[in-house]
Amino acid sequence: MKTIDDLQVAGRRVFVRADLNVPLDGTTITDDGRIRAVAPTIAKLVERGAKVIVASHLGRPKGAPDPAFSLAPAARRLGEILGQDVAFATDTVGESARSVTAGLTDGQVAVLENLRFNAGETSKDDAERGAFADQLAALAELYVGDGFGAVHRKHASVYDLPQRLPHAAGDLIATEVGVLKKLTQDVKRPYVVALGGAKVSDKLAVIDQLIEKADRILVGGGMAYTFLKAKGHEVGISLLQEDQVPACLEYLARAEKRGVEFVLPVDVLVSAEFPDLKTKAPAHPDIVAADAIPADKEGLDIGPKTRELYASKLADAATVFWNGPMGVFEHPDYAGGTKAVAQALLDSDAFTVVGGGDSAAAVRLLGFDENAFGHISTGGGASLEYLEGKTLPGLAALED
Ligand code: ADP
Ligand code: MG
Repeated sequence: MKTIDDLQVAGRRVFVRADLNVPLDGTTITDDGRIRAVAPTIAKLVERGAKVIVASHLGRPKGAPDPAFSLAPAARRLGEILGQDVAFATDTVGESARSVTAGLTDGQVAVLENLRFNAGETSKDDAERGAFADQLAALAELYVGDGFGAVHRKHASVYDLPQRLPHAAGDLIATEVGVLKKLTQDVKRPYVVALGGAKVSDKLAVIDQLIEKADRILVGGGMAYTFLKAKGHEVGISLLQEDQVPACLEYLARAEKRGVEFVLPVDVLVSAEFPDLKTKAPAHPDIVAADAIPADKEGLDIGPKTRELYASKLADAATVFWNGPMGVFEHPDYAGGTKAVAQALLDSDAFTVVGGGDSAAAVRLLGFDENAFGHISTGGGASLEYLEGKTLPGLAALED
């Protein structure tokens, strides 16, 4: 894979496919981690006199302009971080994009509007995607792929566009791939994986792979309940993916056969109601054993015994991969499990990788120093698919 150093960027229009897909509350960015992560790449191109065109998606608009998903707040934030004016095109490949990008002088930066405002970006039809990529290619002379959070998508700006322009990987992608390699090649042991988050089905494929690689797998979050169910426990009204129970059983059996320690919660915080994440009104949860969840209650975080257990299982690790919060961390009464795992990572001497949009946001929102972790990935789905051993379209397109 070529890097930015292999491109002659001075005086040329460089298209940077970034991942500025940040969480928004209205027009307020609640976590700017992804913008800060790609800013050094953009600053380097500015420094070298490129005319930088930054593009990204944000959220899931339906292939047409939708003000709720405008990248304007992200463009403003990027300008603040870079400490320079950033122009903003109010479309992707239209009049505004053409005039804004044509007007760039050396060292200037422009951000295009949300790429998913054009249906060609995510189209399954090669020709439709290709047509959009052609229009994007007309805006620039060179391509830098640095949107790690989107490299698992076969989208026009990620996959088709780099095939149309001389291209290189940006510094963020180079770093992310370097870190993930450390988890797949010659991993230092014990290698402990902590998995949480909402849906089991999102993470089954990675569990399948990790059973072959990890020494210990700790499961929390919403996905724990499908495993508890597989173990024969009742889980009340907790998140449950009944159709995944057989797969969970198979993994538990395979882990045992391979001598991989598969650790499930021993106690959980439960409530009859999902907490109010807006008002954060006190939730008054009960603590119950994991095999005694009342029929009318929902598990929303791992309990105190589980926190201690998981901390002890992380203490002697040499490598840790953590994906997915242990509970509904967005509410303070259910943030304790996620905090405990984050703290255990900080207390260990392990090389720690945090993957997953919500996990990374949780670490920052809960007040941890992100620099104290080995690496916080900007890509949840992308890092999981990499660990699954899949070919990622956005990386493959940068290869040649
Ligand atoms: P990531 O983005 O880090 O990969 P996910 O998107 O898989 O993580 O999951 C994050 C979400 O999981 C959070 O919004 C959190 O509230 C939710 N969650 C965690 N534990 C539970 C639970 N027990 N019940 C319901 N939702 C949960
Ligand atoms: Mg998520």
